[in-house]
Amino acid sequence: MKCQDTLWNSCLDYVKTKVHFDNYSTWFAPTQARKWDSETLIVEVPNHFYKKCLEDNYSELIQAALKEVVGKAVAVKYILEGQLEESPRSFDEVCSSPEVNAPTFELKEKKNNLTPSVDGKFNFANFVVGSSNQFAHAAAQAVAKNPGRAYNPLFIYSGVGLGKTHLLQAIGGAILQQNPAARVKYLTAEEFTVDLIESLRNDRMPGFRSKYRPLDVLLVDDIQFIAGKERTQEEFFFTFNALYESQKQVVLSSDRYPKDMHDIEERLRSRFESGLITDIKLPDVETKVAILEHKAEFHNKIVPNDVNLFIANNIKTNIRELEGLLLRIIAYASFTHKVISLELAKEVLKDFTYDKNRQFTVPKILKKVASHFHLKVADLKSSKRSRNISLPRQIAMYLSREYTPTSLPEIGKQFGGKDHTTVLYSYRQIANLIKENNEISHSIETIIKQIERG
Ligand code: ADP
Ligand code: MG
Repeated sequence: MKCQDTLWNSCLDYVKTKVHFDNYSTWFAPTQARKWDSETLIVEVPNHFYKKCLEDNYSELIQAALKEVVGKAVAVKYILEGQLEESPRSFDEVCSSPEVNAPTFELKEKKNNLTPSVDGKFNFANFVVGSSNQFAHAAAQAVAKNPGRAYNPLFIYSGVGLGKTHLLQAIGGAILQQNPAARVKYLTAEEFTVDLIESLRNDRMPGFRSKYRPLDVLLVDDIQFIAGKERTQEEFFFTFNALYESQKQVVLSSDRYPKDMHDIEERLRSRFESGLITDIKLPDVETKVAILEHKAEFHNKIVPNDVNLFIANNIKTNIRELEGLLLRIIAYASFTHKVISLELAKEVLKDFTYDKNRQFTVPKILKKVASHFHLKVADLKSSKRSRNISLPRQIAMYLSREYTPTSLPEIGKQFGGKDHTTVLYSYRQIANLIKENNEISHSIETIIKQIERG
């Protein structure tokens, strides 16, 4: 998580305690911090309704939240999605330099307990189980029933927005529900790192250790963050061992498999691999629709099935986006006093899909796929058949078909004159592989994200 995210999320935590949940989920949940330079915070909102609503109705509250978190007034600027212009050196870049240069802002008060409590947002009851996540879900439930005994550590792997945080929170919540005295702590690896740095800086290491070692359950989200950070890894290793040896439960989530985590010490990697590793795959359309139904119900809205199907077909890889889009449709309908219909959904999604998809062109896909697999574009266009080239080529064809309006024959042409049946075959091949092979679907997600970033 980036600095501005940490800052904004802390503000949102504050906001959550002050506004009704419906208002929070409509107006605040879809926002995202994009930049912070210690004077101005730039927040991205889905459209101008949001900007206006936040400015007109919530500016005082947001100022109060920022004051609470940062300890001083911070100007907030809203931008619409995709409007961020690049400026020379963002605070974010400052933060991503080595850990000694860790964020200098202090979160005034850090929460030490499980953030959203048992009746909070993420629990097992509102986690929709489908074929893509049933194993991760079952493992999470087993751990929640039998902490420290079932699988230790439990390592949950998936791409972005597929439910890792949700499951980690659900485990924590369920354990606390059974045993309110359990010492459960949920935090992100970034928060762990910041905590460590602050403790080192202020000579408070004994305090740091006494915070983690007596826990019964430690849930660390996005553990990939500690890659390349030696001191954090070392301290995490000790924390892990202390807990593990006394049969305390550790649950980790990551956006990559332990073996794909570079810059991580071998001894830690082998700890990560020593329990159960489970993954969440990309959801199929049925699961996506079931999730949408669940979310609509939660917001007390009736969303027709064709609208859910439409959203599910438009959002390929990310449940967070799925939900974001649904909320956008709900907000739009309530603004314009219209009923939610396929027509309305198309109207709202037009901008969204356009924004998302305009980045995708066949040449761009070729370029990104080639660089992802350390190949040349010419290799992808060639007729070489070795697997290290043919698989990336098939992936590039798949993406060209899925994400651009280009026809099959035209795609074939842009791949050095291949037949359209080859393109179709590749498309089907990859569409099948995605369901079975998480490594491929993960590569594809990474490439998609890179293309979206431009
Ligand atoms: P990750 O941590 O993997 O990036 P999150 O756990 O934050 O993803 O999930 C993103 C959003 O999608 C959250 O709002 C979460 O509640 C929702 N979500 C993910 N999987 C499911 C599911 N199976 N059922 C219901 N909601 C889900
Ligand atoms: Mg997460």
